[in-house]
Amino acid sequence: SRRMIIAGNWKMNKTPAETTAFIETLKPLVAGADADVVCCVPAIDLVPAVQAAKGSNISIGAENMHYEESGAYTGEIAPNMLVSAGVSHVILGHSERREYFAETDETVNRKVKKSLEHGLIPIVCCGETLTQREQGITIDWIRQQVKIAFLGVSAEQAAGCVIAYEPIWAIGTGKVATAEQAQAVCAAIRSLIRELYGVETAEAIRIQYGGSVSPSNAAELFAQPDIDGGLIGGASLKPDFAKVVNYK
Ligand code: 13P
Repeated sequence: SRRMIIAGNWKMNKTPAETTAFIETLKPLVAGADADVVCCVPAIDLVPAVQAAKGSNISIGAENMHYEESGAYTGEIAPNMLVSAGVSHVILGHSERREYFAETDETVNRKVKKSLEHGLIPIVCCGETLTQREQGITIDWIRQQVKIAFLGVSAEQAAGCVIAYEPIWAIGTGKVATAEQAQAVCAAIRSLIRELYGVETAEAIRIQYGGSVSPSNAAELFAQPDIDGGLIGGASLKPDFAKVVNYK
């Protein structure tokens, strides 16, 4: 059976000093976790986060990455910079990056392939708007996003990836998807992976739910057969994140 993976997405929050203090606080609270624990933090916080998490079960992830190796890309971070800083995971294609920073399925695909070349674990995000859900096109939309994100990715590589299903209407709204809604889409994603790569990869890949996850709803969501953990925004910024990690 798959190991759960519970990741925080800090978004644009916490200074380097706040990062060190928070990771120190979190360490003992999640030390016994029966899940992979990841904090995905702003670029400037990566180095202090890795330093503070040393010797603990907390892994550190980035929130974005460029798809080129190096060069004239002002303001961007290259994959080998993340690896050499001790970063193990990277969120790719978050809906906020797609909405505010012009990320497309194509740039996400380039980033996914590049992250895998460098041995990073991508957390590949997908999700529908409220309008799309009301139009009944959620599954088609998600299948399209995931299909493009994984173009040119091998079965072996895909097996080690993480997909985060984050309905946009549930992000930062307090309107969590029901466990049934979240399970239905996560099951559809796993079916797509089975079509693309076969049953072994489909059973290995981990699929998270994200969107208003909190200590009060985590247990029900994470009990669903195709939900292998969560990507947590607001609730990952406080020590209460440990309650989501220790949801059982
Ligand atoms: P919230 O948990 O704040 O709704 O954010 C979810 C999210 O976007 C995680 O990537």
